[in-house]
Formats: sequence, structure tokens, C-alpha cells
Amino acid sequence: MSSIVLFGPPGAGKGTQAERITDSTGLPQISTGDMLRAAVKAGTETGLLAKTFMEAGQLVPDEVIIALIKDRITHPDAVDGVMFDGFPRTIPQAEALASITKVTHVIAIEVPDERIVGRICGRYSCAGCGSVYHDTFNPVGTDGCNCGNWEEKRRADDNEGTVMSRLGAYHEQTSPLAAWYETAGIFHRVNGDRAIDEITEDILAALN
Ligand code: ADP
Ligand code: ADP
Ligand code: ZN
Repeated sequence: MSSIVLFGPPGAGKGTQAERITDSTGLPQISTGDMLRAAVKAGTETGLLAKTFMEAGQLVPDEVIIALIKDRITHPDAVDGVMFDGFPRTIPQAEALASITKVTHVIAIEVPDERIVGRICGRYSCAGCGSVYHDTFNPVGTDGCNCGNWEEKRRADDNEGTVMSRLGAYHEQTSPLAAWYETAGIFHRVNGDRAIDEITEDILAALN
């Protein structure tokens, strides 16, 4: 099994691009954020532990994340490769990943800090299918989502209060991974401060 990684700050557009890359490549998206939110909703032990960190805009401990990933990649859909969204976020997570799969591409979606608050505070998604929307930049159509099960969902942590700590966690704990992957020659930078479709084109080109 090999894998690709979508890398970047909160609100960079990783989930938005993952949806489109899955449509083009068939690679399943593995989002640790989505997995954690599902665990919180289900009230599992992992969910209870993760909740306080997520509400504070801090990273959930590595051992929790690594255990989630080790289980997830045993699912049958992961056999031919996967696309990680929001993982790894620390050097220990990247080391754990290297020991379980070959990472072939790390796609860094670059967006300046000053854009992030606006991206995150306008975010919502479709509860029916998970598609990501934005109040201004990518609003859902007047008939709701194409999936036919439109229901608006907003994340509890998508508020100005947590954005700064989430961005701080990104700069302190996650961005050092860039140098780590650059050394391995698999790091591709994409300008994420453009139209969604242009970014998708660049990512698909980097994957070929
Ligand atoms: P991430 O998964 O990296 O946290 P998302 O894909 O959820 O980011 O995007 C964050 C918000 O920004 C969403 O509301 C999304 O609709 C919006 N968005 C994504 N890409 C762009 C873009 N290129 N330009 C403007 N807004 C975008
Ligand atoms: P965003 O892209 O907007 O930061 P995510 O959905 O990726 O949002 O993550 C939401 C929260 O879940 C993070 O703020 C963090 O608390 C937790 N989280 C998600 N992925 C990881 C990870 N790989 N390591 C540690 N914490 C994580
Ligand atoms: Zn939908």
C-alpha cells in the first residue's frame, strides 16, 4: 500500500481538494479530523479523550491518532493506496506513518495566515455527504447539495476563539514536517490562494 498526504494549515482546502482528488483517482480519503468527530459523536473512549483537545484548538495526543490510523488502514478500501487529509501533523506521526506505508507524494496547500480566519469562520458542510461549502467562496446551490440529502452542518470548533490556537499548533508542531518531507524529495507546494478548480489541476499534475 502507498499513500499520498494533503498537507497545510487549518482551512487551507485539504478536505475540499480531497473530495475532488478522490473523484479523479479513486483513492479513499482518510481524514483524522472526521474520524475524531465521529468518535466524539459516538461517545467512545477515544472521543471523550479527544474532545477537550479539539475544543481548545490543540492537537490530540500522537498515540491516539496513530492507533486510529493503524486500525483504519486495515480496512479493505485501503489496499491499493490512500489519501491522508490532516495527518500526519507531528514528527512522531510522520515516523509512525513511514513504518506502515510508503508515502509517495506530500502536497502542501499554501495559504497565507491572514486568509485562514475568513476561510474557517465561513465553513459549513453537508451532513448528508460531507461536501464542504463556504458562505462566500463556495456556497451551496439554492436547491441544496447535489447528493439529495442536504442538511447544513457547522463544526463546533470553527470559531474565531480556536482559530488562533489551531494556527499556532500548525506553525509549531506541523510545519516542521515540510523540511522532513522536502529532504525525502516528495514534497510539492501548491498555491492554495486561488480558485478551487485551479488548485485541483495543480494537485493532479503533481500526482502524475
Ligand atoms: P481544510 O480541510 O484544509 O481545513 P477545507 O477544505 O474545509 O479546509 O476549506 C476551508 C473552507 O474554505 C471551506 O469553507 C471551503 O469551502 C473554503 N475553501 C476551500 N478552498 C478554497 C479556495 N481555494 N478559495 C476559497 N475558499 C476555499
Ligand atoms: P482543520 O483542517 O480545520 O484543522 P481537522 O478536521 O483536520 O481540522 O482537525 C480538527 C481537530 O482535530 C484539530 O484541531 C485537532 O484537535 C484534531 N486533529 C485532527 N487530526 C489530527 C492529527 N493528525 N493529530 C492531532 N490532532 C488532530
Ligand atoms: Zn450532500
